Amino acid sequence: MITIAADLHSHSGYAGGVGKISLEKIAAAMQMKGIDVFGTGDCLFPPRTAELQKQLTETSDGLYSFPGNSRFLLQTEIIISTRLIGYPRKIIAHHLLLFPDFTSIRKVQDLFRKWGMKNTIGRPFLTSENCVQLEDQLFELQNVHPLLEIIPAHIMTPEGIFGSRNNLTSLKEFYGGFIDRIRIIETGLSADPSMLQQIPDLEKLTFISNSDCHSSALNRIGREFSLIRCKHLDYPSIIEALRNNRIEMTIEFNPAEGRFFLTGHRADRQGHDQAVSFTDDYPQDLTCPICSRKMNLGVWQRCNSLKNPQITGCHRKFIHLIPLVEVIASSLGIKSVNSVSVIKIYNRIIAIFGTELALWQSDQIEEQLDKRIPQKTINQICAVQRGDFIFDPPGFDGYYGNLLIGAH
Ligand SMILES: [Zn+2]
Ligand SMILES: [Zn+2]
Repeated sequence: MITIAADLHSHSGYAGGVGKISLEKIAAAMQMKGIDVFGTGDCLFPPRTAELQKQLTETSDGLYSFPGNSRFLLQTEIIISTRLIGYPRKIIAHHLLLFPDFTSIRKVQDLFRKWGMKNTIGRPFLTSENCVQLEDQLFELQNVHPLLEIIPAHIMTPEGIFGSRNNLTSLKEFYGGFIDRIRIIETGLSADPSMLQQIPDLEKLTFISNSDCHSSALNRIGREFSLIRCKHLDYPSIIEALRNNRIEMTIEFNPAEGRFFLTGHRADRQGHDQAVSFTDDYPQDLTCPICSRKMNLGVWQRCNSLKNPQITGCHRKFIHLIPLVEVIASSLGIKSVNSVSVIKIYNRIIAIFGTELALWQSDQIEEQLDKRIPQKTINQICAVQRGDFIFDPPGFDGYYGNLLIGAH
């Protein structure tokens, strides 16, 4: 068995809102971060398919490389929507699709054409009228190739399958008879395994974590990823490992950083002269005690509402981490992670450890980092490695949590 670091959800320049992102830059960033396998993003969008096919070479079954050691896996995100009886609004849920080869991509493009779906953006829509039609479509997708994988993405965000916007109480309501083919979920930036593992529908599923990045920046690529135990470094082995829950651990954002972590209203809302946010004791009808308007349910409370406390015992290994460039910037009191002094220290550290992942896995950080690295930076790196950082106050109502490193 080998352990690989995989970040299987990204977007290209075609997803909108971002410029062109070159595979060359991504490959260089992967190398520094220590990411072995990276999801290409947007592989279903025909211009992107052509670009990938032209630039990548298959190096092992279903994995492709840009010249060098990088390994890419063909991946896209799609937005699935349908109507369910008893729900006034359409259910919308983002999903990852992982493809074993370019032939399967072309077959799915044909299906989209047959169904009349516009495949004109990086992250296309798959819409269906009701759950019966959706079930048929999902089976047709799966029948393209036994190793094609359909994974609910960032499941607790508003447009994730279990998010507060959808307000679903079970996965079966959405997937119907296809439910047994859902074997993996993506935790997303807004939740971690400790928040999800008591949710009955997720108990038997594999949890993976991905960056969902729209850029090749060092604080975006691999900001979340999974360590997977595989038989070989190829696509069939990765899918086999994911389906059999061979996750060594996931590397996660601290969800308290997220903008919708807690239920609350920020200070600059109408009728407010101060902010209000809730952890466990919150008004059940979500009425704000200050302005009397309705608050959005935070991810923390949404997870708790789905949990069964009878499910005990944490069997998901994970750690919270902050991208190294952000730790360096914070230690220097600099806002921009792209500043020359941050990059200079980053490169020095990578020259010593080889990759960012190797740094985080090292038990000799203080010994290995020499005098050229500021002591404050070393201290903060060690604090982050110990998990000694918090977001206080946590994020709520559109505000990110406030990072404090080494508070203990
Ligand atoms: Zn998404
Ligand atoms: Zn309010």
